[in-house]
Amino acid sequence: MKQLSGLLIALIAFSVSVQSCKNKDVDKVDTTLITITNPPVEKVLTADEQAALTPDVVINSLKDGNRRFVANEITARNHSALVRSASAGQFPKAVILSCLDSRIPVEDVFDKGIGDLFVGRVAGNFVNGDLLGSMEFGCKVSGAKLILVLGHESCGAIKAAIDDVQLGNITAMLANIKPAVVRSQDFTGDKTSKNDAFVELVAKNNILNTIESIKSRSPILKEMSEQGKIKIVGAYYDLHTGEVIFL
Ligand SMILES: [Zn+2]
Repeated sequence: MKQLSGLLIALIAFSVSVQSCKNKDVDKVDTTLITITNPPVEKVLTADEQAALTPDVVINSLKDGNRRFVANEITARNHSALVRSASAGQFPKAVILSCLDSRIPVEDVFDKGIGDLFVGRVAGNFVNGDLLGSMEFGCKVSGAKLILVLGHESCGAIKAAIDDVQLGNITAMLANIKPAVVRSQDFTGDKTSKNDAFVELVAKNNILNTIESIKSRSPILKEMSEQGKIKIVGAYYDLHTGEVIFL
């Protein structure tokens, strides 16, 4: 496998160098071919590597990864090798609670791979008992150093909560998000789902509500946070740029 990837890298490098010779305007060389020549990641995080992390180091790692995602410079990974490497155990850096939205591929957004992140998803990124239990498992049992609540621009669940949608099980689900609508009533403009500024405010207040719920409903996570063993933070994903803005 290594020989094959070495050959592939050599071919790509040769192809780039031929292109460079043919094309005297170096600026026009396709740099995406050059970035592929970086050796792919083949090992997952180990217990010692996880233990050496701090919450702030993990936050910076997520920020750096998002910068690479936005710049289209995502890390090359050998997924087959990573699957084999991860089979012995997992030591992820963080728990990410994301919305269900299909436009947010969470691992890619932070340029992370197999074994790097626990990812919980529910429309509107709120917490219930099951998600709190999952977070406690991720941090207290499995050693993750960070909980990140990730909301996003133009969230359909937020809009549905604003519109007071009544439909099947969605009605009960939206009850978890409506406190954020109530929290946003000081907004001075049009308080409807058609107003992007209001939808953004409710989404950000929903992230804050979720963080507060985690701390008030999970004594385990609250204590870990107070002891500095983990941090619980929020962030907002820009659908237009792929940028994650930490709140
Ligand atoms: Zn959403």
